[in-house]
Amino acid sequence: MNYQEGLKAIPAAAISTKDATALEEVMEKDNGNVNFHFEMDCKVLPEKKSHNVIAELTGNIYPNRIITIGAHLDSWDVGEGAHDDGAGIVHTMEALRILKELNYKPKHTLRVVFFMNEENGNMGGKTYAKKVKKENEEHILAIESDRGGFSPRGFSVDGKAKHLALIQSFEKIFAPYFVHYFEEGYGGVDIGPLKKEYKDIGLIGFVPDSQRYFDFHHNANDVFENVNKRELHLGAAAISSLVYLLDKYYSEVN
Ligand SMILES: [Zn+2]
Repeated sequence: MNYQEGLKAIPAAAISTKDATALEEVMEKDNGNVNFHFEMDCKVLPEKKSHNVIAELTGNIYPNRIITIGAHLDSWDVGEGAHDDGAGIVHTMEALRILKELNYKPKHTLRVVFFMNEENGNMGGKTYAKKVKKENEEHILAIESDRGGFSPRGFSVDGKAKHLALIQSFEKIFAPYFVHYFEEGYGGVDIGPLKKEYKDIGLIGFVPDSQRYFDFHHNANDVFENVNKRELHLGAAAISSLVYLLDKYYSEVN
């Protein structure tokens, strides 16, 4: 709901896919002869200072080359944000924890970022990208999990041909676990602004099974008990594995 400059704004609202479907069903039943009453009491409050939360394992060979692994801390106003994006927070935190637990010494600096305020303006993502660029950091890759805590299916790649080729070269390692989707596609909202600052960066989006995502996304059902523990584990394992492989091979071929 963005307006072209000069257009007169009309009241607009976003409702969840689930509610939109329910509304559509009612309207169809009565041949569209429905009175729909919708109340909004939202307003924009002044900005408050908030923070991204950052942790990293420093690289042993290329400490100045950074791989960001991110998800967002904030959630929509209903539900608990368990899938969106609590699951992503667990995925990314687990990726670093698993590698640390294995006593893995990364070549590159692996940095987990819990971004603040994705839902309402992406301030965490925008601020992070600007800040790291200003500090002259070298960012080579960024990975995001923000599509729910469902069984992993693969990864989508927004970058150069070399990024896609590298990630597709891992496909056979994941295939036995039915993680087989390695295609060109969207990275993620939080890591998106990095692309503006780093022309050569590869952005990677974690892609879980999407069949039930919109049963939970931005509605009251997005609660903790609707995240399956095993599926969440599998997502974390898939992301840890990808981080490990990227860390191991990226600078060998680039
Ligand atoms: Zn989200």
